[in-house]
Order: sequence, then C-alpha cells, then structure tokens
Amino acid sequence: MSVIYRRVALIGLGLIASSMALAMRRGGLAAEITGYARTAETRDTVRELGFCDQVFDTAAGAVAGADLVVLAVPVGAMSSVMADVAAHLAPGATVTDVGSVKGAVIAAVTPHLPAGVHFVPGHPLAGTEHSGPRAGFAELFDNRWCLLVPIEGTDRAAIDRLRALWQGIGANVDEMDADHHDLVLAVTSHAPHLIAYTMVGVADDLRRVTDSEVIKYSAAGFRDFTRIAASDPTMWRDVFLNNKAATLEILGRFTEELFALQRAIRRGDGDYLHAYFTRTRAIRRGIIDAGQDTDAPDLGRGKRKA
Ligand code: NAP
Repeated sequence: MSVIYRRVALIGLGLIASSMALAMRRGGLAAEITGYARTAETRDTVRELGFCDQVFDTAAGAVAGADLVVLAVPVGAMSSVMADVAAHLAPGATVTDVGSVKGAVIAAVTPHLPAGVHFVPGHPLAGTEHSGPRAGFAELFDNRWCLLVPIEGTDRAAIDRLRALWQGIGANVDEMDADHHDLVLAVTSHAPHLIAYTMVGVADDLRRVTDSEVIKYSAAGFRDFTRIAASDPTMWRDVFLNNKAATLEILGRFTEELFALQRAIRRGDGDYLHAYFTRTRAIRRGIIDAGQDTDAPDLGRGKRKA
C-alpha cells in the first residue's frame, strides 16, 4: 500500500488512536504520525510504546504541518480540543474525528473550523471495553465498518482521501448523514449499552443475591452484559449527553416491547414468546452472515479482543 497522508496528527491517544496508528504503520499509510494526549502520563506511555514518531506536549505542536488531524477524544472534549488546534492547522489540511455521536460533534467542531481546512466527520464501528494507549491493536478495524458523515458542500477529494485511509486501515467505508447515523447507532450501540449498564446495576442492587453469587455463577447472558458495562465511563457519559433525542426515542420503543414481553410472561403466552424469539434469532443469523461476528460458542474463558 502507498502513503496516503504525509503527516497524521492524532489528538487523544487512547484505544482508537493507538489502533489507528498501528494499522497505519502496518499498511504504510502515513509517512509520519504525531500525537498529543492531555496528561503527561499518557504522553510518556506512548513515547514508550513508540506508535507515534513524535509525541508533543501541546496539541498545537502535534497538528503543525499535518495534512490529516484526527480528533480521538471523548465526544464532550471535541469542542475545546478543536478550539486549541484551530489556529495551527495547515491550509488544505483535513480534520476528522472518531466520535461515537455525529450531530453534536459537527455542532462542536464547525464553529472553530478555519477557512481552507476540510472537516470530514467519521466513526469507526469497532471498539472494546478497554481504553488507553496500551489497549490498541492493528487489527481492531479489520472488516469493520467506518462511517463517514460528510457535511454538505465538503470537498469530494478530501472525503475520498479519508475513505482510502480507512480502507487501508482495513475497514469498509459507508457514508450517511448525521441524523441517520445517530439514530442507527442509538439502536445498534447506545441503547444496548444503557441496557447492559442497567442489568448489571440491577444485579448489584439485588441484595437477596450476594455479590459473590453474581460473580461465581455468572452465566453467559449476564457475563456479556458485564463486559459491555465495563466500558469507559467518560466516553459513555458523553455519548448519552450528546445523543439524547435518538437514545430517548429508542428507549421509549424498548420500554414498550419490554412491557409486551412482560405481559406475555404474566399471561403464560408461550406462542407470543416463541414467535418473538424466533424473529430475534434471525437477526443474529444476519449479523453472522454479514461477517460481523462468528458463530463459535463464546464460552467466556478464552481470550477475546473485540
Ligand atoms: P480512550 O481510550 O479513553 O482515550 C481517550 C483519549 O482522549 C486519551 O488519550 C485522553 O487523554 C484524551 N482526552 C480525554 N479527555 C480529554 C480532554 N478533555 N482534552 C484532551 N484530551 C482528552 O478513548 P477511545 O476509546 O479511544 O475513544 C476516543 C473516541 O472514539 C471517543 O470519542 C469515542 O466516542 C470514540 N469511539 C470509541 C469506541 C470504543 O469502543 N472505545 C469506538 C468507536 C469510537 P489522557 O489519557 O491523557 O487523559
């Protein structure tokens, strides 16, 4: 593969940025990678890990001369980070982000965007419950989707160049608008996370079942919830604060479905339950057929990364 950007600046050096850096290195996609993180501790860790060519103590230093700047901080920090770097962006550079919400990030970033700099919002649909620069691995985005959410009027060449980068990183790329993105993600990611947080919270509150029993007898359903509920609290707080409307819409629908299932259980309506679970099983089959998960039984005892 060939070099797509001369200098890529990663602002925020956690799971997503470190995985991008490792994948860009694997594919030879960037001639140079610079980085900046908020704390000296993270910057030192990245210097030790070596996935950036240079780590700067200021965001301004990292973006100077970069032809691609990737904002890889929690959604709630996008505005302040963009304000810090705006005056130091090179003319003609592209700014992108990897935030899990798009409407709010576009509203936070665009007011700071200097003339002559392109902004192409993005969101790779890949992650783990681990965070920080040590959590990254080059294969994270392989065969996953990366959604680009270009704003009307954005330079087509800037979008296509970023698309080529994500494809080189290993992802499949699609484009959609911000409202649609935020609704789709509310269904596929944000509401499920909230449900997992709730279920783990319920188990924690249920005093008749002791903590040690919850841990010792943890069965697959609950175990999967605990993995999701171990995700980064800052990132997920920001997702819900910034995708309010779509998440509330989906949670309203979820509550209605839950009540319908609750009523079927109370009435002993086995036909309703069986038909419902048959329908949901088909969705799982579709995900496996689309190559987004494997059919292997997850016994929860092996090592799994994503
Ligand atoms: P992470 O591992 O927690 O790393 C976050 C990075 O942002 C750290 O380097 C942190 O610096 C820096 N940061 C935090 N607050 C900051 C602030 N106020 N100002 C400047 N820098 C700040 O997070 P991540 O999982 O890579 O997520 C980054 C972005 O990707 C988020 O917007 C998230 O929504 C999105 N995303 C995440 C996933 C996922 O599953 N994790 C998937 C897709 C997209 P310090 O370490 O110095 O504090």
